[in-house]
Amino acid sequence: MGKKAIDIANLDVEKLIQMLNEALAEEWLAYYQYWIGARIMEGPMRSEVEPELLLHATEELGHATLVVNRILQLGGTPILNPADWASYARCPYEVPSDPYIEEILKQNLNGERCAIQRYEEIADFTNGKDHSTYQMAITILNDEIEHEHDIEDFLTDIERLKEDIRKFRI
Ligand code: FE
Ligand code: FE
Ligand code: MG
Repeated sequence: MGKKAIDIANLDVEKLIQMLNEALAEEWLAYYQYWIGARIMEGPMRSEVEPELLLHATEELGHATLVVNRILQLGGTPILNPADWASYARCPYEVPSDPYIEEILKQNLNGERCAIQRYEEIADFTNGKDHSTYQMAITILNDEIEHEHDIEDFLTDIERLKEDIRKFRI
């Protein structure tokens, strides 16, 4: 593994690898949360929301790639067994048992807020000590902030649609 890469990381590398493995598990679960949610959801604006959720799923996989590469550069072992994802992840997978679009979006929103917290922590932990991981954390953080905003916008628009329908009935 990259010895210099590990030496220049001026912090507790084992703790960082643990945090990165937790983030890795969360990215895979976020991927599936989006991917399955996009397919089973029902309700207003489905045809508009579905491609965006599938795009987010792809972006979560991209994050997993960034995170696993950094774990390897730091000499760590990435999670090898998907059965460990749920126990590593702090952001829980929420079973989409109600396919209504608002419920699916709320589950995704919870995941994004949890991911924002995760990368804030990784950025705080590495700031000024491990520039490479710090830069990666900020890159992913900016995506997660954008994801959160996209979903909030969809939920606002669905709410507006529901209000309009109520008005027309009066
Ligand atoms: Fe992500
Ligand atoms: Fe995200
Ligand atoms: Mg988006």
